[in-house]
Amino acid sequence: LLDIRSELKNHRVSFGGVELGKELLLIGGHCTVDPKEPNKYFETAAALKEVGIHALRGGVWKPRTNPYSYQGDVKALDILMEASARTGLPVNAEVMDEEQLDIALDAGVHMLQVGTRNALNYSLLRQIGQKVAGRDTVVLLKRGRHMGPVNEFISAAEYIVTFGNPNVVLCPRGTLPGLEGYRNHPDECITPLLKERTWAPVVADPSHAVGKAMYVESCSMAAVAYGADGLCIESNVDPKNGLGDDPKQAITPEAFGALAKKCRMIWDMR
Ligand code: PEP
Ligand code: MN
Repeated sequence: LLDIRSELKNHRVSFGGVELGKELLLIGGHCTVDPKEPNKYFETAAALKEVGIHALRGGVWKPRTNPYSYQGDVKALDILMEASARTGLPVNAEVMDEEQLDIALDAGVHMLQVGTRNALNYSLLRQIGQKVAGRDTVVLLKRGRHMGPVNEFISAAEYIVTFGNPNVVLCPRGTLPGLEGYRNHPDECITPLLKERTWAPVVADPSHAVGKAMYVESCSMAAVAYGADGLCIESNVDPKNGLGDDPKQAITPEAFGALAKKCRMIWDMR
């Protein structure tokens, strides 16, 4: 295990025109792309591009804790790809099974997300490694909600790598049990531990770690201070009316721009 460290140590992952490690990668967008509100997503995408974000995120299929919550809709994929075409930015979307993986790859999704709930789904990790092999597609692997910070997390990434796709990015996003007041237990502090053991870049997700818009900036700054190569943040021009997590944790594109400025200053101090 942990060959991820040695065999590919000179491998560099690039996404959104950024070689990870050279410049802070910024990914932003809605938790969930609302198929009934395409213009909202286009508006967010344009506003994020305006403040210098490198790539868009947007959930198509959603892993919801509550089975009665909105579960996603493949129609959202067209909106996501249209936003990519309009802005020229690549896009990230989560896939939860092989069927979704095939659909996302056919549509040309640039970054596949493995969510926290599937971080231990070894058959999905293997499928992603195999099907993405030989493509430029990047995989953002979220840390499992109960996953040990080092061995278990890196081993999950190793599944993707060993089955064929070296373009893997590790994403701390908080763990359970949560820290009272936050949504999860923020875990941006694991980055130095990951960096010691692997060459894989780290893109932190402060949105799901803290779960409240007002704490996203401080968590982002901490993540960069701890050595993150990038940030993936939920952002919406109209957070209050967004689907999924946005009403609680999404920040406006304007706030994202302000946060990015501060984070770049921290980056420059490293
Ligand atoms: C998300 O990115 O919207 C999401 C569901 O993430 P996680 O798997 O980290 O909860
Ligand atoms: Mn979300």
